[in-house]
Amino acid sequence: VEKYDLIVIGAGPGGYEAAIKASALGHSVLLIEKDRLGGTCANKGCIPTKSLLHCAKAYAAASSSQELGVEVDKAFFNLQKAMAWKEQAVESVGKGVELLLKNAGVQVLLDAAACLDAHHVQVAGRIIEADFLILATGSEPARPPIPGSDGPNVITSDEALVMELLPQSIAIIGGGVIGIELASFFSLIGVEVSVIEMLDEILPMCDRELAKLVRRGLDKVSFNLGCKVTQIDSEGVQFTDSKQKQRRVDSQLVLMSIGRSPVTKGLEALGLETARGYIAVDSHMRTRLGNVFAIGDVNGKSMLAHSASAMAEVAVSSIFGSEAMSFDPISVPWAVYSHIEAAGCGPTEDQMKSQMRKCLCASVPMRSNGRVLAELSKRAVGSAKMICDMDGTILGIHIVGPYASELIWGASVLISSRVNVKAIRSAVFSHPSVSEVILECARAIEC
Ligand SMILES: Cc1cc2nc3c(=O)[nH]c(=O)nc-3n(C[C@H](O)[C@H](O)[C@H](O)COP(=O)(O)OP(=O)(O)OC[C@H]3O[C@@H](n4cnc5c(N)ncnc54)[C@H](O)[C@@H]3O)c2cc1C
Repeated sequence: VEKYDLIVIGAGPGGYEAAIKASALGHSVLLIEKDRLGGTCANKGCIPTKSLLHCAKAYAAASSSQELGVEVDKAFFNLQKAMAWKEQAVESVGKGVELLLKNAGVQVLLDAAACLDAHHVQVAGRIIEADFLILATGSEPARPPIPGSDGPNVITSDEALVMELLPQSIAIIGGGVIGIELASFFSLIGVEVSVIEMLDEILPMCDRELAKLVRRGLDKVSFNLGCKVTQIDSEGVQFTDSKQKQRRVDSQLVLMSIGRSPVTKGLEALGLETARGYIAVDSHMRTRLGNVFAIGDVNGKSMLAHSASAMAEVAVSSIFGSEAMSFDPISVPWAVYSHIEAAGCGPTEDQMKSQMRKCLCASVPMRSNGRVLAELSKRAVGSAKMICDMDGTILGIHIVGPYASELIWGASVLISSRVNVKAIRSAVFSHPSVSEVILECARAIEC
C-alpha cells in the first residue's frame, strides 16, 4: 500500500498551507483536491469577489468623476469583460498555489477522496495509507428549506460569480459579509438591489454604529431589516417584517447568502463528532480521533481564509512540531470589501457591554482625516473606534471607511502583542494617511 506521513484532503487556504508546512518539515505529504487548487477562496470566494468588486468600483468612479474634473462621455459596464478580468485573477492565484506546492515537493492528486478509516483514504481507485490525516474540506453555500428556494431564479454566490447576464433587479437574502459585498457589486453597476435580513442590523460581527454607517453608505440598496423570508416565487420574495406584516420584494433574481454549510461528504466512515454539522476539534485542531485533524471552514471556528491558514499552522505544529500551538480567534481580523469598506479585530464595544466588561472607548470620524477629505470630500463616510482595557491595553479596533481592509492588519498585531495605547501616541504616522485615524483614536482614549 502507498504510504505517506500525512494526507491532506482539500486544497483551499487551510489544506494547501498545511501540506506546504508539513513538507517543509521534511515529511511526505499527499494533498487531494476534487476540484481546483486554491479552494473556495481562490475560485469561488475571496479572489473572484474582490476582482469583480474592483471592476464595479472602477465603473462607479468613471460614472461619477465629473466633479473631479475627469469628464467621461458615458461609462458602460461590460459584464463579459469584467468576468474575464476576474477569471485571469482566479487563474493566476491557482497557478501560484500550484507552483508553491510543486516547490515544496507536495504530491497532489486531483480527485475526490473518501476516508475508509483513520489511516486509509480511497482516491482515484487506489487505497492510500497515512499516519495522520488533515481534513480541510471547507464549506458550501447553505440552502435553508424556504419554500421556492430550489426555483430557477434562485442563485448563491457560486452562480453570481459566473453569471453571463445581469438581472434588472436582485433580492439578496442575508446581510452578512457575502450578501453585503454582492449588494455593493450589483448596486454599483446599476442593478436594483434589495437586502432582506432577519436581524435588526447588517454585518453581525461589526460594531452596531459602524454597521449602520456601512448600510447608509450603500445608498442605492434598499434594506429590509428584522424580516423573515417565508416564500420565494418566480417574481420575488415574500417575508414577514418586524411588525409581523406580510410584505414582498419583486425581483428578477434571488440570491441566497444566509451562511455556509460544512462539506463532510467522504468523511462519514470516520464517525467524527460534530456540532451543528461542523467537525468538532480541540484548540489544537485535533478531532476525537487522535491522528485526525480538521481545519478551516469545516470546523466552523472562524470561516475566513486566513483563519484556515492559521489553523493549518496549528495542526501541523501539533502533529510534527516540538511545541503545540493553539488557535485563538480573538486577534483574527475580518474585512468587508463593499464600496464602503469595514474591518475589525478584537471585541466590539457592544460585546464588551454585553459581557459587562469595563473598557475605554474612543471613536474618530473619517471626515476629520486629511487624506479622506482630499480624496472624497463631502462623500467621506465612516469612523474608527478603539477599545482598550482600563489600563490602556488595546483590545479592539473597528473601522469603516476607505482602506479599512488594508489598515486592519496593524490592529491584529497591536491586539495580539497586547500593546498599550500610549505606544501609539508616541509613534509618528505619515501625513496625510487614513492610518492617522488610529493615532487620533489613541489620543482620544482617556488614560
Ligand atoms: C463569496 C465568498 C467570499 C469570500 N470572501 C472572503 C474574504 O474576502 N476573506 C476571507 O478571509 N474569506 C472569504 N471567504 C471565505 C473563505 O473563502 C473561506 O473561509 C476559505 O476558503 C476556507 O478555506 P478552507 O481551506 O477551509 O476550505 P475551502 O477553501 O472551501 O477549500 C476546501 C477544498 O476541499 C475540497 N474538497 C472537499 N471535499 C473533498 C473531498 N472529499 N476530496 C477532495 N477534495 C475535497 C473542495 O473542492 C475545496 O477546494 C469568502 C467566501 C465566499 C463564499
